[in-house]
Amino acid sequence: MRSIVWFRGKDLRVADHGPLTEAAAAGEVIPVFVLDPFFFAPERARELPHRLQFLLDSLRALEANLAHLGSRLLVVRGRSVEVLPRLAARWRVDQVLAHRWVEPFGRERDRRVGEALAREGIDFRLFEGETLLPPGSVRNGQGAMFRVFTPFARSAGARLELGPALPAPRALPPLPEGLTLEAVPIPTVAELGLPMNPNLQTGGEKVARARLKAFMSGPIADYETGRDRMDRPGTSRLSADLKFGTLSVRTVWQAASAAGAGTSGQRFLGELLWREFSHHLLWEWPHLLERPFREGFTGFPWRVDGADWRAWAEGRTGYPVVDAAARQLLAEGFVHNRARMVAASFLTKHLLLDYRQGEAHYLKWLTDGDWAQNSAGWQWSAGCGCDAQPWFRIFNPVSQGLKFDPEGAYVKRWLPELTDCPTAFIHEPWKLPRAQRVRLDYPDPIVDHALARERFLAIAKGHLGRGTA
Ligand code: FAD
Repeated sequence: MRSIVWFRGKDLRVADHGPLTEAAAAGEVIPVFVLDPFFFAPERARELPHRLQFLLDSLRALEANLAHLGSRLLVVRGRSVEVLPRLAARWRVDQVLAHRWVEPFGRERDRRVGEALAREGIDFRLFEGETLLPPGSVRNGQGAMFRVFTPFARSAGARLELGPALPAPRALPPLPEGLTLEAVPIPTVAELGLPMNPNLQTGGEKVARARLKAFMSGPIADYETGRDRMDRPGTSRLSADLKFGTLSVRTVWQAASAAGAGTSGQRFLGELLWREFSHHLLWEWPHLLERPFREGFTGFPWRVDGADWRAWAEGRTGYPVVDAAARQLLAEGFVHNRARMVAASFLTKHLLLDYRQGEAHYLKWLTDGDWAQNSAGWQWSAGCGCDAQPWFRIFNPVSQGLKFDPEGAYVKRWLPELTDCPTAFIHEPWKLPRAQRVRLDYPDPIVDHALARERFLAIAKGHLGRGTA
């Protein structure tokens, strides 16, 4: 039996990799990664610079791991829908094995690849693994997908029977003799026309395991409270590893379950279920990448305002938490979850700008930028998503800062112009006496919180009727 194991950008590992394990047990293995112009063409690459840097790190690590096991990763150029079936036919493989993706464009790609392979008489098998449970498999009593997180999580938790994570193969067979290869070297970020950002996390299976170990032997114990503190490293920072599959979600789930961290451990598992929920939502309703979950929000009168947009995106709104989030995003491709919520709420509710503008900006700059999670996070924050709470929750950036960054360490880290701001004023520097304020070189708020809140509520009520959307 000769198999292509088609690595895509979500399973860049050798441990707990169903397709690799199964192909190795069946016989000859040809590991392939396709540099598809959908992601790697220069104009596309510019739209995801941080993700590509992390992906290329992870791909190099995968290449080294496969070489260590005795095999070789073949990196080829071209459109997946053409190059994969062509190589599979030329190399006379029996089957192509890969992990399933939930995104609509990934599903369409796989449908077309599957059809082309079928014409050649080659099997195409998709494995579960991106999520804990197969997307579409968690249903309510009426057989429908849950619309609210808590019952989804309860049902998913009850159904979860994870088998043991698969160990990495001890060895792999060498590539079959006589293949005509079209392999190219893994490109560098510079070859993709991207600047290297030294502040990003490094990608790769080994470094991901080290992050997992560090979190499970420390911060998880205090996750229940620590997760919300923007000024402390209280979360796992595993989001990009989960996104690119340098760790399987099953591995992370089992490590957290074994850590014995009580309610903090449960809370962490709950966040993995939020991840699960967002993927199952997108599987069920692929249009969520374009349209709001709450249909009443269709046609919402979002404003168009270039100056407000730039102030938000560049971190010059005058609200320190919102501005720190913007600067952290551009600097290190990451934003603390609480800061993401505050910043997204501010863009959509205080500024009344379209959540899709923020969603695209985050997707561009986040290293963990993930279609399902980012879309769900933005819609939740804008009020038009899947949320048991009504749409009129509006985060107050000042009280959020006071509560979750009490000394202002988070905002000072990202806003050097506030270094000399006294702690008592750090989340509302506009209240400083004028003489001190002018020395800070930090803008006054671009909107007044109370007025912006009233404006959003009035406009949303007008659009949504009596708040039942
Ligand atoms: P931890 O707190 O350690 O959580 C562990 C894992 O659980 C995370 O790595 C992540 O995979 C998952 N998780 C945690 N919180 C959430 C959540 N609210 N929803 C879904 N999954 C969650 N997460 C992404 O991975 N990619 C995104 O593109 C993304 N965009 C977001 C946009 C907005 C506006 C918001 C409000 C949230 C977004 N999130 C996204 C969710 C969350 O902010 C990040 O997963 C989290 O901050 C990553 O840090 P961590 O790995 O230290 O998380």
